[in-house]
Amino acid sequence: MDKVDKPNSQWKQELSDEEFDVCRMKSTEPPFTGKYTYCKDDGIYRCKCCGNELFSSKTKYDSGSGWPSFWEPIHKDSVKYEKDQSYGMLRVEVMCAKCDAHLGHVFEDGPKPTGNRFCINSISLNLEKS
Ligand code: FE
Repeated sequence: MDKVDKPNSQWKQELSDEEFDVCRMKSTEPPFTGKYTYCKDDGIYRCKCCGNELFSSKTKYDSGSGWPSFWEPIHKDSVKYEKDQSYGMLRVEVMCAKCDAHLGHVFEDGPKPTGNRFCINSISLNLEKS
């Protein structure tokens, strides 16, 4: 995979303020506010920053959390993981493997078959409808 590596000064020009805050500064959109929370359209969710394929609508489910939730990424190497100890919690951050955009976190209370819940900010995603 060819990495996308741009300085924040460039991302700042390419993204809206809200997109930059979440994708590049790792903030979180308020729950139940994102455009894809309840979306049931078929397609592929791509990275807002670089277009990398991240999740299929086939693995999306309603977790009740207020954020779009998936039980697995579309390809194993679409995303990468980092330990996140901010806010006094131990969480696993999910990032775009191609451009390092912050996507959200993964938890182990998801449905079968993986038992994982990828809890992802809508604003980090772009749905390509099929
Ligand atoms: Fe990306």
